[in-house]
Amino acid sequence: MDTLFHGVLGAVACSTTGLPGWRRGPVRSDGRRRVADWTLPAAFAFGLFPDLASLGIHFATDLFTGNGVRWHGIPDFVFFLYNVTHSLLGIGLGYALLVAWKRTLWLPALAWPLHVLVDVPTHGAGVFMTPLFWPFSDLRFQGWSWWLSPWIFYGGWLTLLALWLLVLILRLSWRKPT
Ligand SMILES: [Zn+2]
Repeated sequence: MDTLFHGVLGAVACSTTGLPGWRRGPVRSDGRRRVADWTLPAAFAFGLFPDLASLGIHFATDLFTGNGVRWHGIPDFVFFLYNVTHSLLGIGLGYALLVAWKRTLWLPALAWPLHVLVDVPTHGAGVFMTPLFWPFSDLRFQGWSWWLSPWIFYGGWLTLLALWLLVLILRLSWRKPT
């Protein structure tokens, strides 16, 4: 799916403001509701990360050098980074290092594997099929390209809207126990 979709999905699925907060949402140690929740922007960023750290570099340099955004002439190192950020090996190593560094990252960092999980069925035949088993195997699942299927694109965003509405309904139904 598109990169922004992954960010918004990560935020709803992997932050305490989103669904993991269930009815209470982010809470402080004294049981009161937390206003600012760091896991929200962190999960959003981890949702964007696999694309930003690969294709994002290519598009940013293209824009910077005044070439506009081009889908051709993508350099090999960008594909290498795409393989790293979209493979089980890269995710496993990256996630382990992140959680070893800061244990509390375990929840927002899950937005990274979630991004790749969503990419697998929504990327059809072509160079952007998800390289899940890189570098051990080139086996890739041929999914349905979201950029060619409006029903996947709009269906995905409607699902996100429904998930955020669910969060809102859950939160409104929460009463602090007295
Ligand atoms: Zn991706």
